[in-house]
Amino acid sequence: MNIYIEIIYLAASILFVFGLKGLTHPDSARRGMLLAAAGMTAAIVGTLFHPEIVRYHWIWIGLLIGGVIGAAMSIWMPMTSMPERTALSHAFGALAAALVGIAEYENYGGSMGKLKVGALGFEIMLGCLTFTGSLIAFGKLYGVVKGTPITFKGLNIFNMGLLAVMIGSFIYLAYDPSVAVAFYTMMTLALCFGVLLVIPIGAADMPVVMSLLNSYSGLAAAATGFVLGNNVLIIAGTLDGFSGFILSVLMCRAMNRSINNVLFGAFGSVSHTAADTAIGNMREVTLEDVAVQLAYAKQVVFVPGYGMATAQAQHAVRDLANLLEARGVSVKFGIHPVAGRMPGHMNVLLAEANVPYSVLYEMDQINPDLPRTDVAVVIGANDVVNPDARDNPGSPIAGMPIIEVDRAKSVVVLKRGTGKGFSGLENPLFFKPVTGMLYGDAKSSITGLAQAVREV
Ligand code: NAP
Repeated sequence: MNIYIEIIYLAASILFVFGLKGLTHPDSARRGMLLAAAGMTAAIVGTLFHPEIVRYHWIWIGLLIGGVIGAAMSIWMPMTSMPERTALSHAFGALAAALVGIAEYENYGGSMGKLKVGALGFEIMLGCLTFTGSLIAFGKLYGVVKGTPITFKGLNIFNMGLLAVMIGSFIYLAYDPSVAVAFYTMMTLALCFGVLLVIPIGAADMPVVMSLLNSYSGLAAAATGFVLGNNVLIIAGTLDGFSGFILSVLMCRAMNRSINNVLFGAFGSVSHTAADTAIGNMREVTLEDVAVQLAYAKQVVFVPGYGMATAQAQHAVRDLANLLEARGVSVKFGIHPVAGRMPGHMNVLLAEANVPYSVLYEMDQINPDLPRTDVAVVIGANDVVNPDARDNPGSPIAGMPIIEVDRAKSVVVLKRGTGKGFSGLENPLFFKPVTGMLYGDAKSSITGLAQAVREV
């Protein structure tokens, strides 16, 4: 391959590495995204110079369609739909890898060396299962596929059998690459496996599934790189594959799922039809009560969740925080790793509202501070502050680390009504004597609170 293309690919790979590095901190995340986008542009431009390209018209058509769809999704899809958008991107990225693999097999199948066929097999298996798995994940997140686990008796054994036949076809193909039946059997089974892997998983576990599928689609791209002899695909795919895997591990920890469960697809074994464990009454509080508490507090901790995202309350929250700080109140934000609907969701929203990173505290940092906190304000969060995860070993979310707002001197929960969180579980926090419920849309409640604090 042309030396100039290799140099462009090298530059693209370096940009990807720096892009990922930038994503390790909210401060540098925007720059990281720009670097990664520049890397992707370089990789596309480099590929356009490939000497084996004979005609460009299909490429231009593809670029146009992909570019228009990508731009439309970025501009019009709201932040709250980001997981669905990501699921679709994974699905189509994986489909692209699989289609390249099929084309390669159709063109050179019988004459391929064993190593190349091995890489091709990985590409097809990971690409196909990620394609259908991501589509099911999209369906579950979008609500067109049932969010609760869809299982049948013996599903795990059936899946294991299917996996065994798929791997058997792969081994046979590696032994004799000219056997097209083995190739297409492997492909069809991988497509089915993707569906069967994700349908038994409850929607509450979708973040782990998504990051794992992200990892698979990266590895499929890396395998494509081996098949095509394309270095940038190998590097970018490996980076994607392993960063997705690391994210899966971190998400597992944050949601208390074991990585073994994730790897062997034993999701859905946990029932998400938990009993309503909370008893008693919720205590409603008024804007004025809360405003007085906040205005005279020494320390206030805001704990945002999905409701802050749907209400788009981040700017109002920043204004309230500024107001309190101006009165000498120490204001902190406690951020749970799976608050919202995507990793880093709260950080992104608060960064958008220019809340300084110095007041954002991760769960482990803020928890020891909560007993010293006068008021913990829960803004549209539910599961991530559910004390059942800590106190009730029978709860489906038992062991999931939470932000322990119930240890604060006083808790105010901002939500619209008695709606449950993503897990569909009741939250005993709302019934505790320390907790006051401020009902209403988070944005109007926060705006009202700011007004009331001004009048205190
Ligand atoms: P949550 O448990 O889903 O609870 C959100 C709460 O916000 C609801 O109880 C709802 O109650 C309230 N709410 C909704 N709209 C509101 C509005 N406009 N104003 C005020 N309140 C509003 O959220 P979370 O505590 O952030 O927990 C996240 C959950 O999502 C976890 O279970 C996590 O595992 C899961 N998840 C996370 C990710 C991720 O990567 N971060 C991805 C997918 C799923 P009302 O209806 O009563 O208002």
